[in-house]
Amino acid sequence: MSSKPDIHLPRVGDCLHLLHPVRCAVCSRVGACFCGSCRATVLPAPGRACPSALQSVTSAGLHHGSLREAVLALKYARRVDLAGEFAEMAWIAMGASATGWAHLVCPVPLHWSRRISRGYNQAGLLAESIGRLLGAPSVSDLVRKRATPRQVGLSALARRDNVRGAFAAPNTTRLRGARVLLVDDVWTTGATLSECAEALLRSGAAEVRAVTVSCAPEPR
Ligand SMILES: [Zn+2]
Repeated sequence: MSSKPDIHLPRVGDCLHLLHPVRCAVCSRVGACFCGSCRATVLPAPGRACPSALQSVTSAGLHHGSLREAVLALKYARRVDLAGEFAEMAWIAMGASATGWAHLVCPVPLHWSRRISRGYNQAGLLAESIGRLLGAPSVSDLVRKRATPRQVGLSALARRDNVRGAFAAPNTTRLRGARVLLVDDVWTTGATLSECAEALLRSGAAEVRAVTVSCAPEPR
């Protein structure tokens, strides 16, 4: 009886992995996109008042230190490999109550012009991964009707004005009566989350909860 020689050819993915090993987005240590040491420094999300349009907002940690750096790497440095890791952290933070609750998972949208210039929507990547964990489809039912200036550096009041009326959810049939989990990278003042939740509710969503990777301290 002849037997084939037991040769394991390396897969393309393995070769790429050797050429470009995964490095921590914060400390550059080889092995994981957000290493255990950096993850161990993540502080708990602060208790904050939930914006009125939302049932709840859950965050995986405080927007500070290693978590802040990693979130910025996902958003601005094309570290899209972090989305899966962050989704798992968000899923754990939500706990068992999240599973079975959401009919739909919906990311906070970017305006199409920013989506093109960045090449991806970080909230969309998070929503896809969170949707897989929850067994609920991720849908891009929210649209940003106008490009809004970046929120960074604006006061809470200015942020609210900046995004007022900026979102709509035109697909009313799918949203009608649905429990929707809204997904974003950071909960800053809550102005964007509120506007998005209001747009979903206007289009018939029954309830909206939100989950973010990180949460800033309560704005003063
Ligand atoms: Zn690290």
